[in-house]
Amino acid sequence: MKVGVLALQGAFREHIVALEALGVGAVAVRLPEQLDGCSGLIIPGGESTAIGKLMDTYGFYGPISARHAEGMAIWGTCAGAILLASTVLDALPGQRTLELMDITVRRNAYGRQAASFEAELDVAGIEDGPFTGVFIRAPWIESVGEGVEVIARQGDRIAAARQGDLMATTFHPELTGDVRIHRLFVERFAGVARA
Ligand code: GLN
Repeated sequence: MKVGVLALQGAFREHIVALEALGVGAVAVRLPEQLDGCSGLIIPGGESTAIGKLMDTYGFYGPISARHAEGMAIWGTCAGAILLASTVLDALPGQRTLELMDITVRRNAYGRQAASFEAELDVAGIEDGPFTGVFIRAPWIESVGEGVEVIARQGDRIAAARQGDLMATTFHPELTGDVRIHRLFVERFAGVARA
């Protein structure tokens, strides 16, 4: 099994390290052709406007949606969650996303004072205790559509959600050394890929 990590900008190396720790073949995806044969794709955290522009430049929007329609699972972390969202609040004018997941996400939602923090989270499907959520200028998920399951909250805000084989986390599991959410993605979503 191969899982791609979109490697245009942001924290993609840490995701590759986490996947390799699980013994999963990880591909740093820099060109759309590299999506072929990937049963899952991780869109990392970073800067959603920068990643989105590079996705445009390299022609990723169509191929990612097409591969997803064929069964490629997708997990977006932080900026990656923004890029999956159908609606983005406080977006930059003209900011484009994949619009694959029925969630409304607010960019930089925690404001300046709480811009970066850690919080212990209970994540549905994750056993053996709470997961340390690292939030860095994070968005929150303001609301979710009908087919979307909320899988973690931070206070009264939604921090993670899942819709079929799409998952969004507003925090950065790849920065903790704790690979439980990577394992969940690989085994539960990408592992049953139809591709
Ligand atoms: N604030 C960033 C954005 O809007 C996301 C930050 C992150 O990915 N850590 O894209």
